[in-house]
Amino acid sequence: LTLAERASLIGPLDYKVLKTVYELNSNYEYVPYSAISEELGLLDRELKEVLLKLYDLRLLSKERILKEIGYRLTFTGLDILAIKKLYATKILKNLGIIIGEGKESNVYFGYNFSDETVIVKFHRIGKNSYKNIRKIRGIKYKEDWIKLTVKNAEREYKALDCLYNNFGNVPKPYGQAYNAIVMEYVQGTELYRTNISNPEEVLQDILSTLRIAYTYCDKIVHGDLSEYNVLISEEGKPYIIDWPQWKREDEDLLIRDVTNILYYFNKKYDIYKDINQVINYIKG
Ligand code: ADP
Ligand code: MN
Repeated sequence: LTLAERASLIGPLDYKVLKTVYELNSNYEYVPYSAISEELGLLDRELKEVLLKLYDLRLLSKERILKEIGYRLTFTGLDILAIKKLYATKILKNLGIIIGEGKESNVYFGYNFSDETVIVKFHRIGKNSYKNIRKIRGIKYKEDWIKLTVKNAEREYKALDCLYNNFGNVPKPYGQAYNAIVMEYVQGTELYRTNISNPEEVLQDILSTLRIAYTYCDKIVHGDLSEYNVLISEEGKPYIIDWPQWKREDEDLLIRDVTNILYYFNKKYDIYKDINQVINYIKG
């Protein structure tokens, strides 16, 4: 089943149970059946039926804990919570096809309530390197994972919101729920896959957006800037995407971002800019 198909199978009661497991997951790695039951006050038969359905749809996983069964949300379960909330808040009417599976996200087309195409980005921290990151960051169990993932979506939304409102070149953010962000669809191509006719102008627009981030958005530094995270629209305008890892006032990170982008424009378009001048310009 696709994510959209799964979402269409989830009714109000299913959503309520899923949301309850999500909330109780902050207290338990696996939420005991009795805790869910106590929270919801449903009939046993009713609750068991819903839990089985959510498990069959792979929105919950389960494990025996002592004498009962414990449940926890899967990443797909989190995606479903996000879709339902975005629908309820009139941000997203329908989810479309998947357009990309990044290292820490799945990106889909979607449609808003005016039937315009939008982008829905579902964050998934450590989706490929669960064990590694677990070791590095000392994460105890998957729930921390879910929390970090939601936090990343919130962080990315916050950066996009400030940048967009201050006329930075980023996709317009429409809304965020759980691990998902809905934003403007930039019809175009990643910088690394295209030959632009106006490289001077594009580079200037990119640097000016870095300046807006630093001077109007409380010293935000992108942190993963490269030709892979810049989209060039059909009109030739650059959009900087992929902001969840931003850091505040991080000089080394700023130098790294700027070096990456200057190097790319130098290598491919033979444009040279002095790094110190650029850094001073960005810092205002
Ligand atoms: P990741 O962390 O997975 O790299 P990105 O935010 O870079 O996440 O998104 C992955 C890919 O999805 C991008 O390289 C781009 O092709 C596509 N994408 C993301 N946001 C948009 C957007 N607003 N408009 C069009 N395509 C997008
Ligand atoms: Mn990216």
